[in-house]
Parts: sequence; C-alpha cells; structure tokens
Amino acid sequence: MNTVYLGLGSNLGDREALLLESIQEIKKQIGTVSLQSAFYVTEPWGFQSEHPFLNAVVCCETSLTPLQVLDCTQHIEKQLGRTHKSVNRQYSDRPIDIDLLLFNNLILNTPRLTLPHPLMHQRRFVLEPLAEIASQLVHPVLKQTIAELLQQQAH
Ligand code: AMP
Repeated sequence: MNTVYLGLGSNLGDREALLLESIQEIKKQIGTVSLQSAFYVTEPWGFQSEHPFLNAVVCCETSLTPLQVLDCTQHIEKQLGRTHKSVNRQYSDRPIDIDLLLFNNLILNTPRLTLPHPLMHQRRFVLEPLAEIASQLVHPVLKQTIAELLQQQAH
C-alpha cells in the first residue's frame, strides 16, 4: 500500500461543494482517505484574481502507482469542470486543481510528474493544511519536517 498526499484547491463556483465532491471521487478512484485537513481560505498565488481560493490536503492510502494517481486526479479535474491546464506556469481561475504533493518517500523527476511537488515547500496554502494533518512528516529532498517548512514561510 502507498501513502499519497494530495493538495486540493478551488476558486470558482461553489468551492466547498467542489472540494467535497473531489474528495468523494478520490475515495472512489484512488483509495481510502485516512486524513483530511480543514478547508482554508487563501489568496490567489502567482496570478491576480478577485476570487479567493479554498484549499485542503488529504492523505490517501492507495494501491495505484504515482502515474495512475495522476491519471485519476486529471480525470477528476475534468469531471468537475476544469477545461484547460496551466501553460508555462500561467495560472488562472479554476473550479478544481489537484496536485500530488508526496508519494511515500519517492523522489521522481519525469516530464509528466515531479515528486515531491516542486513548489509545495514555497506555498503556505499547501504547508498550512498539510501541517494540520502531518506536521512531523519529513520532506524527502529537503530533509525538513512540514512544521519546519511552514515556520520558514514569510507571514
Ligand atoms: P496544473 O495545471 O498547475 O495543475 O499543472 C498540471 C501539470 O503539471 C500536468 O501536466 C502534470 O503532468 C504536471 N505535474 C508535474 N508534477 C506534478 C505533481 N506533483 N502533481 C500534479 N501535476 C504535476
């Protein structure tokens, strides 16, 4: 069994309903959700928008491989109405975004998938909900706990 941490975000439509629905789909398509953070209201990161985000992190036990999990999260994004991917890190409003943050202690650099997620340690909207459910988890590249990474964030 594998342990995967998924970051969820929504800033369009009924954000709470979309997060809840995406968690239902994660349970159906990926595996057992063993931990779930609260929902956090956060400001858009990397682009200007008047729509704040709702973010959460879930921990999921799965028998799938990392790429199979990515297939599922991209399928769920489509199902819940996301129509286009961000290109060259040009971010935009989205009904639902699901990122793979950590997959066991795996370090992976492929064109389709980077693990741990390459920006997770820079994003308060990831670290805060992640610290709520897994503060002592160690980032396999940076060798620091999630609590330590969160503490290093600017306020
Ligand atoms: P975005 O539109 O910001 O959700 O970016 C999705 C793109 O990033 C997809 O084309 C994925 O193949 C790629 N990607 C690379 N690493 C990850 C990851 N850890 N989690 C989710 N998507 C990833």
